Amino acid sequence: MRCPFCGNVDTQVKDSRPAEDHVAIRRRRFCPACGGRFTTYERVQLRDLVVIKTSGRREDFDRDKLERSIRIAMQKRPIEPERIDQMISGIVRRLESMGETDIPSKVIGEIVMEALHRIDTVAYVRFASVYKNFQDPDDFDKFVAELRPKPPAEE
Ligand SMILES: [Zn+2]
Repeated sequence: MRCPFCGNVDTQVKDSRPAEDHVAIRRRRFCPACGGRFTTYERVQLRDLVVIKTSGRREDFDRDKLERSIRIAMQKRPIEPERIDQMISGIVRRLESMGETDIPSKVIGEIVMEALHRIDTVAYVRFASVYKNFQDPDDFDKFVAELRPKPPAEE
């Protein structure tokens, strides 16, 4: 595995242990060339997924990209990193078990929103605001209003 800091290919594994309830192996690596330390995760990949964008363009499903957009939505939220990892693995497993290798980006967005909704409302709203591409504050207000519990009917 190439060192992300100096590009040296000859890095060492210092420690391997199961992570995310044994769904992944976490490896701590060390680069003897620059002293850099980094971590890699090894996971089962059941099948190669292709994302169909709204434009019709196809691109290989990229777990890291999905993870980045979720982590941006989760920034500074009081959620354990391990829990976020589990959520992302759950999303990927759902996608992989859908029976199709070609998955519209819209479907992925909906699944992510559903998962975020269960974990953290703030992250959910953040993700949705990007995903649904809110154009003005009204879009945002309408969306948030739908999240609020309805006031009890007056007696
Ligand atoms: Zn290095």
